[in-house]
Amino acid sequence: DKITAQLGIVKGRIIGRMAREWSDHPHLISYLSRHSASNGQVGYISDSIQITPEHDQDKLLEVTAYPLFSPKDNAHLLGSMVVVRDCTEEQLMRRSRGEFVAQVAHELKTPLNVMAMYSESLLGEDGNSDEFRVEAVNVIHDDVERLSTLINNMLALTKFELGGMRINRQRVRLLELLEDAFNNIIQSGRGKGLEFALDLPKEMTAVYVDKDLLRIAVNNLLTNAIKYNRPDGKVTLSAEEMNGVIEISVQDSGLGISPEDRSRIFDKFFRSNDADVRQQTGHGLGLPLAQQIIQMHQGELCLESEHGKGSKFIIRLERGTEMAKQAGVA
Ligand code: ADP
Repeated sequence: DKITAQLGIVKGRIIGRMAREWSDHPHLISYLSRHSASNGQVGYISDSIQITPEHDQDKLLEVTAYPLFSPKDNAHLLGSMVVVRDCTEEQLMRRSRGEFVAQVAHELKTPLNVMAMYSESLLGEDGNSDEFRVEAVNVIHDDVERLSTLINNMLALTKFELGGMRINRQRVRLLELLEDAFNNIIQSGRGKGLEFALDLPKEMTAVYVDKDLLRIAVNNLLTNAIKYNRPDGKVTLSAEEMNGVIEISVQDSGLGISPEDRSRIFDKFFRSNDADVRQQTGHGLGLPLAQQIIQMHQGELCLESEHGKGSKFIIRLERGTEMAKQAGVA
Protein backbone atom coordinates (compact mmCIF):
# COMPACT_ATOMS: atom_id res chain seq x y z
CA ASP A 1 0.00 0.00 0.00
CA LYS A 2 0.95 3.68 0.09
CA ILE A 3 3.59 3.61 2.82
CA THR A 4 5.17 0.60 1.21
CA ALA A 5 5.20 2.32 -2.14
CA GLN A 6 6.57 5.60 -0.81
CA LEU A 7 9.12 4.52 1.76
CA GLY A 8 9.64 0.99 0.56
CA ILE A 9 8.73 -0.34 3.99
CA VAL A 10 5.88 -2.67 4.92
CA LYS A 11 3.34 -0.90 7.13
CA GLY A 12 3.28 -3.49 9.91
CA ARG A 13 6.95 -2.85 10.53
CA ILE A 14 6.46 0.83 11.28
CA ILE A 15 3.62 1.16 13.77
CA GLY A 16 4.71 1.10 17.40
CA ARG A 17 8.40 1.00 16.57
CA MET A 18 11.22 3.48 16.69
CA ALA A 19 12.37 4.93 13.37
CA ARG A 20 15.80 3.33 13.61
CA GLU A 21 14.17 -0.11 13.83
CA TRP A 22 12.64 0.16 10.38
CA SER A 23 14.71 2.73 8.52
CA ASP A 24 18.35 3.04 7.51
CA HIS A 25 17.89 6.61 6.42
CA PRO A 26 20.02 8.71 8.83
CA HIS A 27 18.27 11.95 7.97
CA LEU A 28 14.83 10.47 8.54
CA ILE A 29 15.85 8.76 11.78
CA SER A 30 17.32 11.91 13.27
CA TYR A 31 14.29 13.95 12.23
CA LEU A 32 11.79 11.54 13.72
CA SER A 33 13.73 11.03 16.94
CA ARG A 34 14.05 14.80 17.33
CA HIS A 35 10.26 14.93 17.16
CA SER A 36 9.66 12.15 19.62
CA ALA A 37 12.22 13.80 21.89
CA SER A 38 10.00 16.85 22.01
CA ASN A 39 7.26 14.60 23.42
CA GLY A 40 5.58 16.15 26.37
CA GLN A 41 6.65 19.64 25.44
CA VAL A 42 4.13 22.04 24.05
CA GLY A 43 6.52 23.99 21.91
CA TYR A 44 7.16 21.30 19.34
CA ILE A 45 9.38 21.91 16.32
CA SER A 46 7.40 22.57 13.19
CA ASP A 47 9.51 21.81 10.15
CA SER A 48 9.78 19.21 7.46
CA ILE A 49 12.55 17.41 5.62
CA GLN A 50 13.00 16.13 2.11
CA ILE A 51 14.44 12.69 1.56
CA THR A 52 15.10 10.30 -1.27
CA PRO A 53 14.08 6.75 -0.30
CA GLU A 54 16.71 4.02 -0.70
CA HIS A 55 14.56 1.87 -2.95
CA ASP A 56 13.81 4.61 -5.48
CA GLN A 57 16.51 7.17 -6.08
CA ASP A 58 14.36 9.16 -8.52
CA LYS A 59 11.84 10.01 -5.85
CA LEU A 60 11.71 12.97 -3.54
CA LEU A 61 9.56 12.74 -0.41
CA GLU A 62 8.63 15.45 2.01
CA VAL A 63 8.25 14.27 5.60
CA THR A 64 6.42 16.41 8.13
CA ALA A 65 5.71 15.42 11.71
CA TYR A 66 2.71 16.96 13.50
CA PRO A 67 2.12 16.73 17.25
CA LEU A 68 -0.92 14.81 18.48
CA PHE A 69 -2.16 16.44 21.65
CA SER A 70 -4.32 14.66 24.14
CA PRO A 71 -7.98 15.72 23.69
CA LYS A 72 -8.36 16.01 27.47
CA ASP A 73 -5.22 17.93 28.19
CA ASN A 74 -3.74 19.75 25.30
CA ALA A 75 -0.52 20.40 27.15
CA HIS A 76 0.04 16.66 26.95
CA LEU A 77 1.50 15.26 23.77
CA LEU A 78 0.45 11.73 22.86
CA GLY A 79 2.73 11.29 19.90
CA SER A 80 3.20 12.56 16.37
CA MET A 81 1.46 12.07 13.13
CA VAL A 82 3.93 11.82 10.28
CA VAL A 83 2.83 12.86 6.81
CA VAL A 84 4.85 11.63 3.86
CA ARG A 85 4.17 13.50 0.66
CA ASP A 86 5.58 12.62 -2.74
CA CYS A 87 6.92 15.85 -4.24
CA THR A 88 8.85 14.35 -7.14
CA GLU A 89 6.64 16.04 -9.74
CA GLU A 90 6.98 19.48 -8.15
CA GLN A 91 10.71 19.08 -8.08
CA LEU A 92 10.73 18.13 -11.76
CA MET A 93 8.59 21.15 -12.60
CA ARG A 94 10.91 23.45 -10.70
CA ARG A 95 13.93 22.00 -12.41
CA SER A 96 12.41 22.24 -15.87
CA ARG A 97 11.45 25.86 -15.15
CA GLY A 98 15.07 26.60 -14.31
CA GLU A 99 16.27 24.84 -17.43
CA PHE A 100 13.58 26.59 -19.38
CA VAL A 101 14.72 30.03 -18.29
CA ALA A 102 18.32 29.17 -19.15
CA GLN A 103 17.28 27.84 -22.54
CA VAL A 104 15.07 30.81 -23.29
CA ALA A 105 17.86 33.22 -22.37
CA HIS A 106 20.12 31.35 -24.75
CA GLU A 107 17.48 31.36 -27.47
CA LEU A 108 17.01 35.08 -27.07
CA LYS A 109 20.70 35.84 -27.07
CA THR A 110 21.72 33.99 -30.21
CA PRO A 111 19.47 35.83 -32.66
CA LEU A 112 20.14 39.12 -30.90
CA ASN A 113 23.87 38.63 -31.43
CA VAL A 114 23.33 37.84 -35.10
CA MET A 115 21.14 40.91 -35.54
CA ALA A 116 23.70 43.10 -33.79
CA MET A 117 26.44 41.78 -36.06
CA TYR A 118 24.54 42.30 -39.28
CA SER A 119 23.28 45.73 -38.35
CA GLU A 120 26.80 46.85 -37.45
CA SER A 121 28.04 45.64 -40.82
CA LEU A 122 25.20 47.50 -42.53
CA LEU A 123 26.39 50.69 -40.86
CA GLY A 124 30.00 50.06 -41.82
CA GLU A 125 31.70 49.75 -45.17
CA ASP A 126 30.72 46.11 -45.71
CA GLY A 127 27.16 47.24 -46.01
CA ASN A 128 27.74 48.88 -49.37
CA SER A 129 27.00 46.01 -51.73
CA ASP A 130 23.40 45.40 -52.68
CA GLU A 131 23.66 41.63 -52.22
CA PHE A 132 24.96 42.06 -48.72
CA ARG A 133 22.22 44.48 -47.81
CA VAL A 134 19.54 42.07 -49.01
CA GLU A 135 21.11 39.16 -47.16
CA ALA A 136 21.47 41.15 -43.94
CA VAL A 137 17.91 42.38 -44.01
CA ASN A 138 16.63 38.84 -44.63
CA VAL A 139 18.64 37.41 -41.77
CA ILE A 140 17.49 40.13 -39.42
CA HIS A 141 13.90 39.68 -40.52
CA ASP A 142 14.01 35.91 -39.92
CA ASP A 143 15.48 36.35 -36.48
CA VAL A 144 12.92 38.95 -35.52
CA GLU A 145 10.23 36.46 -36.49
CA ARG A 146 11.78 33.64 -34.47
CA LEU A 147 12.08 35.86 -31.44
CA SER A 148 8.54 37.07 -31.65
CA THR A 149 7.20 33.50 -31.97
CA LEU A 150 9.11 32.46 -28.88
CA ILE A 151 7.99 35.47 -26.90
CA ASN A 152 4.37 35.11 -28.00
CA ASN A 153 4.32 31.45 -26.98
CA MET A 154 5.77 32.20 -23.61
CA LEU A 155 3.40 35.05 -22.91
CA ALA A 156 0.36 33.09 -24.01
CA LEU A 157 1.25 30.01 -21.99
CA THR A 158 1.96 32.08 -18.89
CA LYS A 159 -1.37 33.77 -19.29
CA PHE A 160 -3.14 30.40 -19.52
CA GLU A 161 -1.36 29.21 -16.43
CA LEU A 162 -2.33 32.25 -14.45
CA GLY A 163 -5.89 31.68 -15.58
CA GLY A 164 -6.04 35.10 -17.16
CA MET A 165 -6.56 34.01 -20.73
CA ARG A 166 -9.94 34.98 -22.10
CA ILE A 167 -10.84 34.10 -25.59
CA ASN A 168 -12.27 36.81 -27.67
CA ARG A 169 -14.48 35.20 -30.27
CA GLN A 170 -15.15 37.17 -33.40
CA ARG A 171 -16.63 36.41 -36.72
CA VAL A 172 -13.60 35.27 -38.72
CA ARG A 173 -13.15 34.41 -42.37
CA LEU A 174 -11.26 31.20 -41.94
CA LEU A 175 -10.09 30.97 -45.55
CA GLU A 176 -8.35 34.30 -45.27
CA LEU A 177 -6.76 33.43 -41.96
CA LEU A 178 -5.42 30.14 -43.30
CA GLU A 179 -4.18 31.64 -46.57
CA ASP A 180 -2.38 34.35 -44.67
CA ALA A 181 -0.78 31.88 -42.23
CA PHE A 182 0.25 29.70 -45.16
CA ASN A 183 1.88 32.55 -47.09
CA ASN A 184 3.81 33.62 -44.04
CA ILE A 185 5.06 30.14 -43.34
CA ILE A 186 6.29 29.71 -46.91
CA GLN A 187 8.46 32.75 -46.26
CA SER A 188 10.03 31.25 -43.18
CA GLY A 189 10.41 27.81 -44.79
CA ARG A 190 12.07 29.01 -47.95
CA GLY A 191 15.51 27.65 -48.73
CA LYS A 192 14.70 24.32 -47.11
CA GLY A 193 13.76 22.57 -50.34
CA LEU A 194 10.26 21.80 -49.12
CA GLU A 195 7.11 21.64 -51.17
CA PHE A 196 4.14 23.57 -49.78
CA ALA A 197 0.53 22.82 -50.64
CA LEU A 198 -2.63 24.63 -49.65
CA ASP A 199 -5.82 22.65 -50.04
CA LEU A 200 -8.86 24.72 -49.10
CA PRO A 201 -12.47 24.59 -50.23
CA LYS A 202 -13.65 27.42 -52.48
CA GLU A 203 -15.89 28.77 -49.78
CA MET A 204 -16.30 28.34 -46.06
CA THR A 205 -18.85 29.77 -43.71
CA ALA A 206 -17.50 32.23 -41.18
CA VAL A 207 -16.47 30.80 -37.83
CA TYR A 208 -16.57 32.40 -34.40
CA VAL A 209 -13.10 32.07 -32.94
CA ASP A 210 -10.37 34.10 -31.34
CA LYS A 211 -8.44 34.83 -34.47
CA ASP A 212 -5.14 35.75 -32.81
CA LEU A 213 -5.12 32.57 -30.74
CA LEU A 214 -6.21 30.32 -33.58
CA ARG A 215 -3.46 31.87 -35.65
CA ILE A 216 -0.87 30.99 -32.98
CA ALA A 217 -2.11 27.38 -32.89
CA VAL A 218 -2.01 26.97 -36.68
CA ASN A 219 1.37 28.65 -36.87
CA ASN A 220 2.87 26.35 -34.27
CA LEU A 221 1.66 23.30 -36.20
CA LEU A 222 3.02 24.67 -39.48
CA THR A 223 6.37 25.58 -37.91
CA ASN A 224 6.70 22.03 -36.58
CA ALA A 225 5.78 20.56 -39.96
CA ILE A 226 8.74 22.48 -41.42
CA LYS A 227 11.14 21.80 -38.56
CA TYR A 228 10.55 18.08 -38.33
CA ASN A 229 10.48 17.46 -42.06
CA ARG A 230 13.02 15.93 -44.43
CA PRO A 231 14.79 17.52 -47.38
CA ASP A 232 12.37 17.43 -50.35
CA GLY A 233 9.53 16.85 -47.92
CA LYS A 234 6.06 18.26 -48.19
CA VAL A 235 3.86 20.41 -45.94
CA THR A 236 0.14 20.53 -46.61
CA LEU A 237 -2.37 22.84 -44.97
CA SER A 238 -5.94 21.83 -45.64
CA ALA A 239 -9.40 22.53 -44.31
CA GLU A 240 -12.86 21.15 -44.74
CA GLU A 241 -16.28 21.62 -43.29
CA MET A 242 -18.77 18.88 -42.50
CA ASN A 243 -22.06 19.29 -40.67
CA GLY A 244 -20.97 22.43 -38.89
CA VAL A 245 -17.60 20.94 -37.87
CA ILE A 246 -14.47 22.54 -39.22
CA GLU A 247 -11.36 20.46 -39.67
CA ILE A 248 -8.02 22.15 -40.21
CA SER A 249 -5.14 19.76 -40.94
CA VAL A 250 -1.41 20.28 -41.08
CA GLN A 251 0.33 17.33 -42.65
CA ASP A 252 4.04 16.71 -43.14
CA SER A 253 6.11 13.96 -44.70
CA GLY A 254 8.80 14.21 -42.04
CA LEU A 255 10.16 12.31 -39.05
CA GLY A 256 6.85 11.15 -37.67
CA ILE A 257 6.25 10.50 -33.98
CA SER A 258 6.84 7.18 -32.24
CA PRO A 259 3.99 5.58 -30.28
CA GLU A 260 5.86 6.20 -26.98
CA ASP A 261 6.27 9.90 -27.73
CA ARG A 262 2.71 10.29 -28.93
CA SER A 263 1.24 10.33 -25.44
CA ARG A 264 3.70 12.97 -24.26
CA ILE A 265 4.10 15.53 -27.02
CA PHE A 266 1.34 17.68 -25.53
CA ASP A 267 3.15 17.84 -22.19
CA LYS A 268 4.89 21.10 -21.47
CA PHE A 269 8.62 21.05 -22.14
CA PHE A 270 8.49 17.60 -23.70
CA ARG A 271 10.77 17.07 -26.69
CA SER A 272 11.50 13.74 -28.31
CA ASN A 273 14.93 12.20 -27.68
CA ASP A 274 15.19 11.46 -31.37
CA ALA A 275 18.54 12.85 -32.63
CA ASP A 276 16.87 14.47 -35.67
CA VAL A 277 14.41 16.27 -33.42
CA ARG A 278 17.17 17.46 -31.10
CA GLN A 279 18.97 19.05 -34.05
CA GLN A 280 16.17 21.60 -34.22
CA THR A 281 15.82 24.32 -31.68
CA GLY A 282 12.67 24.18 -29.61
CA HIS A 283 11.25 24.39 -26.12
CA GLY A 284 8.42 21.90 -26.11
CA LEU A 285 5.86 24.67 -25.69
CA GLY A 286 4.28 24.93 -29.13
CA LEU A 287 2.02 21.88 -28.94
CA PRO A 288 0.83 22.34 -25.34
CA LEU A 289 -0.09 25.89 -26.23
CA ALA A 290 -1.87 24.86 -29.44
CA GLN A 291 -3.82 22.25 -27.48
CA GLN A 292 -4.83 24.73 -24.77
CA ILE A 293 -6.02 27.16 -27.41
CA ILE A 294 -8.12 24.55 -29.22
CA GLN A 295 -9.57 23.26 -25.95
CA MET A 296 -10.56 26.77 -24.96
CA HIS A 297 -12.57 26.80 -28.16
CA GLN A 298 -14.24 23.52 -27.06
CA GLY A 299 -12.50 21.84 -29.95
CA GLU A 300 -9.94 19.07 -30.12
CA LEU A 301 -6.45 18.66 -31.47
CA CYS A 302 -5.75 15.17 -32.80
CA LEU A 303 -2.71 13.47 -34.17
CA GLU A 304 -2.22 10.77 -36.76
CA SER A 305 1.37 9.78 -37.28
CA GLU A 306 3.55 7.03 -38.59
CA HIS A 307 7.07 6.99 -37.21
CA GLY A 308 9.50 7.66 -40.04
CA LYS A 309 6.80 8.66 -42.50
CA GLY A 310 5.20 11.85 -41.27
CA SER A 311 2.52 13.36 -39.09
CA LYS A 312 -0.86 14.95 -39.45
CA PHE A 313 -2.25 17.26 -36.81
CA ILE A 314 -5.98 17.91 -37.03
CA ILE A 315 -7.84 20.76 -35.38
CA ARG A 316 -11.57 20.07 -34.99
CA LEU A 317 -13.78 23.01 -34.15
CA GLU A 318 -17.48 23.56 -34.08
CA ARG A 319 -18.57 26.48 -36.09
CA GLY A 320 -21.78 27.28 -34.30
CA THR A 321 -20.79 28.07 -30.74
CA GLU A 322 -22.53 29.16 -27.57
CA MET A 323 -20.85 32.53 -27.76
CA ALA A 324 -21.93 33.00 -31.30
CA LYS A 325 -25.49 32.07 -30.40
CA GLN A 326 -25.43 34.46 -27.48
CA ALA A 327 -24.35 37.19 -29.80
CA GLY A 328 -27.40 36.32 -31.88
CA VAL A 329 -25.43 35.67 -35.03
CA ALA A 330 -25.43 31.88 -35.35
P1 ADP B 1 9.27 22.15 -29.98
O1 ADP B 1 8.99 21.99 -31.43
O2 ADP B 1 9.66 23.54 -29.61
O3 ADP B 1 10.18 21.11 -29.46
P2 ADP B 1 6.47 21.45 -29.57
O4 ADP B 1 5.65 21.52 -28.32
O5 ADP B 1 5.96 22.19 -30.73
O6 ADP B 1 7.91 21.94 -29.15
O7 ADP B 1 6.66 19.94 -29.96
C1 ADP B 1 7.02 19.00 -28.96
C2 ADP B 1 7.69 17.80 -29.56
O8 ADP B 1 6.77 17.04 -30.36
C3 ADP B 1 8.83 18.12 -30.50
O9 ADP B 1 10.04 18.36 -29.82
C4 ADP B 1 8.90 16.86 -31.35
O10 ADP B 1 9.55 15.83 -30.64
C5 ADP B 1 7.42 16.47 -31.48
N1 ADP B 1 6.79 16.99 -32.71
C6 ADP B 1 5.96 18.04 -32.81
N2 ADP B 1 5.53 18.23 -34.08
C7 ADP B 1 6.10 17.25 -34.81
C8 ADP B 1 6.06 16.88 -36.19
N3 ADP B 1 5.32 17.57 -37.09
N4 ADP B 1 6.78 15.80 -36.58
C9 ADP B 1 7.50 15.10 -35.69
N5 ADP B 1 7.60 15.39 -34.37
C10 ADP B 1 6.91 16.45 -33.93
